[in-house]
Amino acid sequence: MRSFMNFFNRINLILHSIRFRLALWFVFILAVLLIVFSSLLFYMQIQELRAETLIRLESKLENIEKAFGTDTVNPQGFPIITNDDDTSFQNKDVFALYYPDGSLQKIWGPFTEIISLDFSRISSGDERDPLIELLTLSGANGQIQYIFKIVPLYSGEALTGYLALGTPLDPRGQLERLLVTLVILIGSTLLISFAGGFWLADRAMRPVKTIAAKARSISETDLSQRFNLPKKDEIGQLAETFDSMLARLESAFARQRQFTADASHELRTPLTIVNLETTRALSVPRPAKEYQRALQIIQSENELMSHLVNDMLTLARMDAHHEVLHREPLDLSDLALDVVERLIPLAARQEIKLETGELPEVLILGDRQSLTQMLTNLVENAIKYTAQNGPDQMRRVLVETGTHLTRTLGWVRVTDTGPGIPGEHLDHLFDRFYRVDASRARSEDISDDESSPAGSGLGLAIVEGIAQLHSGSIEVNSEPEKGTIFEIVFPLYVKPATSSSTR
Ligand code: ADP
Repeated sequence: MRSFMNFFNRINLILHSIRFRLALWFVFILAVLLIVFSSLLFYMQIQELRAETLIRLESKLENIEKAFGTDTVNPQGFPIITNDDDTSFQNKDVFALYYPDGSLQKIWGPFTEIISLDFSRISSGDERDPLIELLTLSGANGQIQYIFKIVPLYSGEALTGYLALGTPLDPRGQLERLLVTLVILIGSTLLISFAGGFWLADRAMRPVKTIAAKARSISETDLSQRFNLPKKDEIGQLAETFDSMLARLESAFARQRQFTADASHELRTPLTIVNLETTRALSVPRPAKEYQRALQIIQSENELMSHLVNDMLTLARMDAHHEVLHREPLDLSDLALDVVERLIPLAARQEIKLETGELPEVLILGDRQSLTQMLTNLVENAIKYTAQNGPDQMRRVLVETGTHLTRTLGWVRVTDTGPGIPGEHLDHLFDRFYRVDASRARSEDISDDESSPAGSGLGLAIVEGIAQLHSGSIEVNSEPEKGTIFEIVFPLYVKPATSSSTR
């Protein structure tokens, strides 16, 4: 029963396979063509036979007239002439005489039944030759096609009756033989071409099977496998597309794994600190001041964690394209001014001069909230890292905007006099959790270091994400010990032309 089911499933699979359908289509088209051509051939053969038979009939009639030597025949004494001459009267031929009203007078030949011919057409002016009629008669060996030639008989002006001479259309059975030959030829051609077509389609589809088998063996944990098909045809292109898709998936999975690992690592540090602080505070009774200090540390770690989680959430939303942007025409200079005014107290606390440069109107189409976050991240970074400068060094952050000469692009630039970024880090600056000085990252044992600019390494990744969402591009120019310039370029907003009625 099971093997029967297997067999049934296999047959079902083959019937639904592309190779079967391809072969079937191929055979179907071939069958239509062959049938059309054969029908044409058959029709031409019939026409030829008909023409030949008519010529034969004419000669037979002439011979009969000669035999009687008169233009009216004597029906009583009609001799049957049977010799091998095609133009003589033969035993398959029918000879009949009719009265003027169309009723049969006498008949000679292999048929005893009454053969009724249509004489009315003779006088009705039918388009077809009224003196020729094609009839199917049933003889001893089945149906036979006959052609009759009718001769009206006159005595003087008066119609005395009709003479009809009929002969088989195909006395040697040529049509039947042609039909059998055609049927056998068409049948075997179709059978052979179906087998050939199926074989060819199977061969062409074999690489697809290989791809399917390999694709089944690729699991999400092992995306390093590739098809590497050496073919250059369509299947090769398909495999190549799969390979590049696998490469993209592999790197996306790797990034995802890295992100999860980095995120857990980032969260583990503040959680460990909170755990250590609470354990320390609760181990022995302590003065209120020490509890207060412990709670302050816990609070600051908590803030750090919420900041981190918020950043991660923003990035996750951007990745999933869930970040809802309320785009509206905005002046980038207004936004820059708002951000600078809000961060001046923070800069002042770090003894940094936060200033604005030229701020012309730079209209872009964007989301106010995310663009504000982007500028805040950049200015906060500039303040945070410039604050590392010694008291004798310059501590200045400049924010300015402008438009390119082409009037199609606008830019915002944040320039600082901070420690700068070594060239080898510039390519990775926007990677998630990437920090130039990894030792500056938070760790359990430097929690007390207030001056350390502890960051999550997500700030610039968010900046880049927001810029991309606004079709913007970022450029960083940095020189160690001198400072850093972040410039983001956006396409300018073009006001829709107001339809002035100039007509
Ligand atoms: P973080 O939260 O660590 O600041 P970011 O993604 O904002 O993370 O920045 C990534 C790294 O780029 C930082 O660790 C820092 O080393 C470097 N960086 C960013 N902005 C500046 C700047 N203005 N000056 C010097 N280094 C910077």
